[in-house]
Amino acid sequence: MKKTKQLYEGKAKKVYLTDSPELLIVEYKDDATAFNGLKKGSIAGKGVINNQMSNRLMERLEQAGIPTHYVEELSERETVVKKVSIVPLEVIIRNISAGSFSKKYGVEEGIVFDQPTIEFSYKNDDLGDPLLNDYHALALKLATPEEIETIKKYAFQVNEVLKAFWNECGITLVDFKLEFGKTSDGSIILADEISPDTCRLWDSKTKEKLDKDRFRRDMGGVEDAYSEVMNRLLNHK
Ligand code: ADP
Ligand code: UDP
Repeated sequence: MKKTKQLYEGKAKKVYLTDSPELLIVEYKDDATAFNGLKKGSIAGKGVINNQMSNRLMERLEQAGIPTHYVEELSERETVVKKVSIVPLEVIIRNISAGSFSKKYGVEEGIVFDQPTIEFSYKNDDLGDPLLNDYHALALKLATPEEIETIKKYAFQVNEVLKAFWNECGITLVDFKLEFGKTSDGSIILADEISPDTCRLWDSKTKEKLDKDRFRRDMGGVEDAYSEVMNRLLNHK
């Protein structure tokens, strides 16, 4: 598998075409951004951790019957994935109040919901990823009704698998963002990444934040938090 041409450079990853038309190589960077790119920085070793963590989690999701783009880890920062056409929706699942939910609805962080919530944002940096509902997504032709149903079903399944897994690592899965894509045969699969950049992860006992909120909120100890989460994952039996 060889990189042929860079297709895209995003905020956290570079994406390359390969000698196989159905496959891409993603390369994880240490660059970190927040607040739609307003805050910029770097988290040493993040690319290596996010690459490997995302791959291990996607392997687990595959085992649980959820199709993902993961194909093969090439190096500590590079992974071969199935090429998809990304559905331009950020799919957010929440188990506990935090972040924009707390701000928008005026509630403290840490309220445990009776059942998880799901919301969509339109993946569009120029518009600041505005929140939208199913009807808006259909009106904008971002996905078909069947695709939206499939995405919701997979997203809740991902939540159950990851919640249980992180719980066994002594970590509470607060909320997370997923992206889905369409393969050349039209099926919906999970794409992008699952990492402390895209999930809120709290130590189950101390409630200490072990994710990108440490960067967003200038809390310090960012690298240590990412390493701690990776070590817990690696030590999981
Ligand atoms: P951003 O675009 O938000 O800055 P990244 O730096 O993570 O984010 O860039 C990775 C880009 O690759 C994202 O736009 C993401 O939607 C896209 N992507 C992720 N997985 C795949 C895939 N399997 N096929 C095609 N594109 C993908
Ligand atoms: N998230 C993400 N990318 C985004 C927006 C959110 O990965 O562009 C993740 C974020 O890390 C958190 C969850 O989605 O785990 C919910 O984020 P929220 O809506 O609370 O927004 P934020 O506080 O990041 O502005």
